[in-house]
Amino acid sequence: LRRRYRPVPDLPPEPDLKKRYDVVIIGGGGHGLATAYYLATVHGIRDVAVLEKGYLAGGNTARNTAIIRSNYLTPEGVAFYDESVRLFQGLSEEFDFNILYSERGHLTLAHTDAAIRTARWRAEVNKHLGVASEVIYPDEIARLAPNLNLSRDVRHPVLGALYHEPGAIARHDAVAWGYATGAARRGVSILQKTEVTGIVKDGDRAIGVETNRGRIEAGQIVQQVAGASTLLADMAGFRLPIRTVPLQACVSLPVKPFLDPIIVSGSLHVYISQTPRGELVMGGASDPYPLYGTRSTLDFKEGLMANMLELFPFLAEMKILRQWAGMTDMSPDFSPIMGETPIRNYWLDSGWGTWGFKATPVVGKRMAETVATGTVPELIRPFRLARFDDIELLGDKGAASVGH
Ligand code: FAD
Repeated sequence: LRRRYRPVPDLPPEPDLKKRYDVVIIGGGGHGLATAYYLATVHGIRDVAVLEKGYLAGGNTARNTAIIRSNYLTPEGVAFYDESVRLFQGLSEEFDFNILYSERGHLTLAHTDAAIRTARWRAEVNKHLGVASEVIYPDEIARLAPNLNLSRDVRHPVLGALYHEPGAIARHDAVAWGYATGAARRGVSILQKTEVTGIVKDGDRAIGVETNRGRIEAGQIVQQVAGASTLLADMAGFRLPIRTVPLQACVSLPVKPFLDPIIVSGSLHVYISQTPRGELVMGGASDPYPLYGTRSTLDFKEGLMANMLELFPFLAEMKILRQWAGMTDMSPDFSPIMGETPIRNYWLDSGWGTWGFKATPVVGKRMAETVATGTVPELIRPFRLARFDDIELLGDKGAASVGH
């Protein structure tokens, strides 16, 4: 048991950089590492380099609020995230490393009749696809979250909620470490402080990358850089319908556990969960301006707390321990963009905005399948870049945790 729950995985030492790899993955976040892991484990493709400009999982993978769920609005989204939740449930066993996966139940509060209607809509789509989701009312909400303020005498009284029992949290950076260790042990090269500065092409085919450590040739390239998606696409020579905006979050000092479910309020633009260590993890809406920066602001904290105190008034004296931001790649329809690009041998995984941590396992599995077979699997085909030309958008804004 002691060996199983060791705190740090045994990541093999970083290998020397080679001049060529069968597959080059740009971005050493959870998505890139998971793709490398499944390429090696499922498809036996091990001549793979993951190039990370900073340090392992130093981007959004370790900056998110770790919420995992599949209660989306579009059938395509629900089926996709459901596969991810199922993969997440087995990851600690698969890695032989504890990712602290904790199933809590997820409550999306409804404060208006319109929000109740959307909750019902989501519940019906979810149930149709076998995902546990139902609309519940204040007596049941009080049973699940006895500390939540359910008074009618507030600005936005809680009328009901969408309850999603499989909603969970996990230790986000542990997910990246698990994938990294599993991939590296099978021969994948994970190269930190290696920044891609250009894409080398022969006509409409990508054949390699320029980096701060020199040119690297590649059989195939996968772009998995979250907030830097449009910058890399620009290097490759195509455009993405993506805006990069900061998203902030914060965590309190640890206190005695009192909150089991994850609570989200779209109307109040806040969400909160409590980690196994007792910290309250809190977030809200995106910053209202595009920016390549991870600066946190007083404005965010003040706005968040004003609304948070309506749900949990007794938190007024709670101390904030840390506040931070990540750069999120927002797509117009709040769905990811994956698969083919106008450049041959150059695959895309982007548009993860504020919702991509929960997708880490399914992205890894399905992007690896895409690269290995050269064919985009049915599960992710609806998320293709070409949907914006075909006007076949996948509107999932109604299932975003808060307004963005
Ligand atoms: P990243 O982890 O950002 O990895 C991309 C990597 O690419 C980075 O490490 C970066 O350094 C690297 N890179 C960039 N440019 C280059 C280059 N030129 N060369 C080499 N490397 C490069 N999602 C959820 O599902 N649930 C949540 O609760 C949630 N909460 C969030 C809260 C916040 C505050 C933020 C910021 C995001 C949240 N998200 C959430 C979204 C989620 O974090 C991301 O969608 C997800 O982590 C994206 O994973 P990734 O591996 O693609 O990106």
